[in-house]
Amino acid sequence: MTGEPKRTVLIVGASIAGPALAYWLHRSGFAVTVVEKAGAPRAGGYPIDVRGTAIEVVRRMGILPRLRAAHVDMRLCTFLDADGSEVTSLAPHAVAGSVEGQDLEVRRGDLTASLHGLVRDDVEFLFGNSVATLDQTRQGVDVTFRDGRQRTFDLVVGADGMHSQTRRSLFGPEEQFHRHLGYGIAIFTMPNTRGLSHEFLVWNTPGRAAGLYAVGDSPELHAFLHFHQPEPPTRALRDPAAQRELIASVYAGAGWEVPGIIEAMRDAEDLFFDTAGQIRMPHWSSDRVALVGDAAYAPSFLTGQGSSLALVGAYMLAHALATHDDHTAAYAACERALRPFVAANQSLVDNGGAALFPITAQALEQRNAALRALAALPAAPVRPAHSALALPEMP
Ligand SMILES: Cc1cc2nc3c(=O)[nH]c(=O)nc-3n(C[C@H](O)[C@H](O)[C@H](O)COP(=O)(O)OP(=O)(O)OC[C@H]3O[C@@H](n4cnc5c(N)ncnc54)[C@H](O)[C@@H]3O)c2cc1C
Repeated sequence: MTGEPKRTVLIVGASIAGPALAYWLHRSGFAVTVVEKAGAPRAGGYPIDVRGTAIEVVRRMGILPRLRAAHVDMRLCTFLDADGSEVTSLAPHAVAGSVEGQDLEVRRGDLTASLHGLVRDDVEFLFGNSVATLDQTRQGVDVTFRDGRQRTFDLVVGADGMHSQTRRSLFGPEEQFHRHLGYGIAIFTMPNTRGLSHEFLVWNTPGRAAGLYAVGDSPELHAFLHFHQPEPPTRALRDPAAQRELIASVYAGAGWEVPGIIEAMRDAEDLFFDTAGQIRMPHWSSDRVALVGDAAYAPSFLTGQGSSLALVGAYMLAHALATHDDHTAAYAACERALRPFVAANQSLVDNGGAALFPITAQALEQRNAALRALAALPAAPVRPAHSALALPEMP
């Protein structure tokens, strides 16, 4: 014990990047507070991937066995054409470029719960609250919370996701950093009336995809609709009724089971609607405030790498802060080490994701041919970007 006061950090957001950063910073001797606008760790949710370098992060955190037990074990991915006939069926890891037997797919809620469980006794959590104002001074960051309380922290880190309020208050409107990838997406749950199990069905016509995702033998399916939108649908992004109308009009006249999926979407209470996009910023920090995970460098769900970047980014930021007394030097060191990894993963969809979700009939034919060829390979190729960073040892 040196008797020196601990450096204090406020982390905004308790999903994946937030609690992962909290864990590593607490271990490195920081006094950590996490503020989350939801009333509790958010449960449930769609399956997400943890791959490559991120597997090493969760191994070092000691939660790899728990996550392996929570592995979703998707066994089959079947692509369907306009009338629902089968194009090809293949192993999901082949489509995603994951390493079978090593990479993981877990429910988002399971990952968040595991991370929260690791730190809940060591870190202060403020649920049902958020940051109203941030004022940086020479001594620290003066924070006013939504509930009116005021506190000062040495550092603040925004782990508040793709539409980060921390980023907006520090760097300005999201539009400057948002790269629209040309698609809209809707996700919701619906009853598993077909008895699907451990499988994923994807229906396509040019510019439109509809998927049914069966996690284990769950009585509920994750339905997803993914459709070409050259410009962000500004009104629909703000208005749930407009979202439903937009989706219904895009899928009008579609075959297979799409009419039933659209009906279910109209009734769904958990409809999630957004555009496929990335966050690309020239810098991830400003003086004492930094960003981590989707807030700083969302790669888009089209890469399936958002959670992995959040975990690896949290580790690298904590490592930099643990090895530098000066926060400015730490943030710069983190950016230097992490940027190539982020860039490699963001560029997995440099063609806008059209490889998996083509928008012309010809491109769809080419994709189908590529998938059939992939299904015929003895071993599917993995994506080097997933493992393109060697983690330093935490001091
Ligand atoms: C539809 C969809 C499908 C996806 N599929 C995959 C996939 O297959 N594989 C994959 O790896 N990734 C996937 N992702 C991405 C993945 O969920 C994210 O990349 C990952 O969760 C990033 O974690 P994060 O902690 O940075 O941000 P988030 O998970 O977005 O968490 C942000 C947290 O901050 C909180 N928050 C927001 N604003 C405030 C505020 N003002 N004050 C306090 N708290 C706040 C939120 O409530 C939330 O808990 C998908 C994302 C979406 C939207």
